Amino acid sequence: MTISEVQEQIKASSARAVVEASIAKAKQNAEYNALLSLTEERALERADAVDAGKITGKLAGVPFVVKDNFLAFGAPTTAASKMLAGFDAPLQATAVEKLEAEGAICIGKSNLDAFAHGGSTENSAYGPTKNAYDKTRVSGGSSGGSAVITALDIVPFTLGSDTGGSIRQPASFNGVVGIKPTYGTVSRYGVVAMASSTDTIGSITSNVADAETVMSIMAGRDDRDMTTLPDFFEVPQFVKPGQKIGLIKEFMTDGVDIEVRTKINEYADSLRAKGHTVEEVSLPMLEYSLAIYYIIVPAEISSNLARYDGIHYGYRAEGAKTLAELYGRSRNDGFMTENKRRIMIGSYVLSSGYFDAYYLKAQKARTLLIKQFNDLFAQYDLLIGPVAPTTAFRLGDNTSDPIKMYLEDVMTVPASLAGLPAISVPAGVSQTDMPIGVQLIGPARSDAKLLALARSLETK
Ligand code: GLN
Repeated sequence: MTISEVQEQIKASSARAVVEASIAKAKQNAEYNALLSLTEERALERADAVDAGKITGKLAGVPFVVKDNFLAFGAPTTAASKMLAGFDAPLQATAVEKLEAEGAICIGKSNLDAFAHGGSTENSAYGPTKNAYDKTRVSGGSSGGSAVITALDIVPFTLGSDTGGSIRQPASFNGVVGIKPTYGTVSRYGVVAMASSTDTIGSITSNVADAETVMSIMAGRDDRDMTTLPDFFEVPQFVKPGQKIGLIKEFMTDGVDIEVRTKINEYADSLRAKGHTVEEVSLPMLEYSLAIYYIIVPAEISSNLARYDGIHYGYRAEGAKTLAELYGRSRNDGFMTENKRRIMIGSYVLSSGYFDAYYLKAQKARTLLIKQFNDLFAQYDLLIGPVAPTTAFRLGDNTSDPIKMYLEDVMTVPASLAGLPAISVPAGVSQTDMPIGVQLIGPARSDAKLLALARSLETK
């Protein structure tokens, strides 16, 4: 289901009919556990206002779903945690406000790993989301709910956050288009913070054109997020042939599913058929990117999550006798195991005795990784590779071993650490009919170009 198809339906019937149909479909698909809440009352009020001509805009009446770490009206913002259960947002995220200003209608909030820590939604306090293609497999994550909602055609677009792959990997696992833009493209204001130096906001859509539409509405400077860039998001109509594309060698090793590698090679061939050149390139620092990520990101998490103390926000444990006990028990009950693991790792690598050995070293290594990317972009227009080493794995397969789970992130964290735009587009399916995505990574602010190139290869 695409935005323009939905706009046709609105013209032929009404915004109310379209929004009601989306909500009905969401309810029919409850078994996927992709939604944590519906914002039904508010959505129908807004649909009526569209039908009465009181709300207008580029997306008037078009329904969408936001990941439940975006502050939005009409339902609580839980970040899939017990800590924020029942938390009513006092304001809306800038991204949501901008879409609403164009008449789009939020119908619900999607499931994620609690506080976006994870890659399968199995860390959600409300149970995992099931894959749109196979209910025994994970949706991917952390924006798994959003990816499944788009894949099931409940709404034409959903929003996600991507700190280390959380839009791209679930998009790949569910056969839809996911974009993690250049760091600073879309305001993070009103989105529950995970790791502030890599958090980004993007969309999950069923085709590339819809990603272009949604991203160009959300992008731009916001005074409430001082890291936002002035709007650069101009979508070119086409990409000239003759682009120099690097196929990342380190992502095509034996450790990666052969079916995944085959699809990436086929995608490379279709790029060549369009008149581009594709050559193997090497980025040796990739070997360290997971280690860098799993030091810097927990460090930032431990700082960002310090605000959940049982007093300022959310859950408070009953019956504590001292302040320390109140903090300790509220945090112990309110956070999931993975949240606590990251808070502990983060506090450890930032502690005075270990700061130089871990955190500072990781920041230096991050700088080297960025340098290698820059060197490659002096010679190549963009890079391609897989999104993940496997297709969607089975529910429960990686839950007992956090390292195994982290290894799934090896191909998505490098672009996050370097702040680069990266998109995941469908590249076909495996023999068992599980979707496989290809990742396109470009230099900063090449987002629109990546999308235009992907659009020129789109088959549906
Ligand atoms: N899977 C990665 C992690 O667990 C990415 C999460 C994200 O992008 N929010 O950190």
